[in-house]
Amino acid sequence: MKNFEFIKAPDVKAALALLDKEKDHAYLVAGSTNAMVDIRAGKVNDRTLIGIRDIDALSGIKFSRGKITIGAGTTISEIANSALLAKKAPALFQAANDFADPTTRNSATIGGNIANASPAADTAPPLLALKAEVIIAKKGSKRRVPMEDFFLGVNKTVLEKDELILAVEFSANPHSAFYKVGLRNAMAISVVTAAASVRKDRDGKITDVAIALGSVAPKPVRAYNAEKAVLGKKLDDKVIADLMKAVAKDISPIDDVRASAEYRKDVAPVIVKRVLCKSCGICANEGGTK
Ligand SMILES: Cc1cc2nc3c(=O)[nH]c(=O)nc-3n(C[C@H](O)[C@H](O)[C@H](O)COP(=O)(O)OP(=O)(O)OC[C@H]3O[C@@H](n4cnc5c(N)ncnc54)[C@H](O)[C@@H]3O)c2cc1C
Repeated sequence: MKNFEFIKAPDVKAALALLDKEKDHAYLVAGSTNAMVDIRAGKVNDRTLIGIRDIDALSGIKFSRGKITIGAGTTISEIANSALLAKKAPALFQAANDFADPTTRNSATIGGNIANASPAADTAPPLLALKAEVIIAKKGSKRRVPMEDFFLGVNKTVLEKDELILAVEFSANPHSAFYKVGLRNAMAISVVTAAASVRKDRDGKITDVAIALGSVAPKPVRAYNAEKAVLGKKLDDKVIADLMKAVAKDISPIDDVRASAEYRKDVAPVIVKRVLCKSCGICANEGGTK
């Protein structure tokens, strides 16, 4: 650890002014659960740390006209305890409940989770499946980036050095689900995660769908081939078999300390089936082939 200055930003305006002034030297710190690990490992040095944890305007979950807005500084605990999200965005609610342990959840923020851009970030698949937008600001301007364009690769996003995530926003969808496979039930970095959201017509035909996966590629991904296999159709055994087959085209997993690529290739279609069936209100075990 060397050459750090820490400045606590009292509000968004001050944080943006500091980012603008410090540029390459700036390093935002929210809950610090990734930041401290990187600093202690010597991956981050010679920086002005800008503390944004206590900025009220970055925190909170709002619902208005069918849209849910979650401030970047909202903790995973707040999401895991939100009755609103349990009802209107169960995929994200479940991901927050499966995240790490209570102590980490109390500090970790949703903004930090997506900015860190781990392929295993647990909030990423639900946000992709809910077709969220990331609201980003820098001094003097704001922009919105669809979640599917936000991640560029391992720990890489479209964020510029002087930008701050303000919030994520998406339309409520009670028909959404998340599933995490880890090496144990708590405190597990994901081996594979999947999330889905659907809308159906009166006949049960899927009129809109988004499916996303984590830990199966250099970044969290939308499963466009899997989506194509079910869009416009009613779920039956044939459609579910096509869905599971299509998942292979959406993923490029690697071997790592947690699992082999082969294992991930086997598991991903199974949990995609589960989240899709759950989103459609069908018990996963009744849904088809496995
Ligand atoms: C013990 C432990 C267990 C963990 N378990 C899990 C797990 O189960 N699932 C999981 O997904 N992750 C897990 N993590 C990783 C980590 O907790 C999450 O990624 C967390 O959400 C990061 O949020 P934070 O607020 O702590 O971010 P910080 O550590 O403060 O920041 C992380 C990165 O994001 C940037 N950043 C933060 N806020 C913003 C913002 N508003 N705008 C722009 N950039 C920003 C920072 O500059 C930094 O680069 C774990 C970490 C630890 C230490």
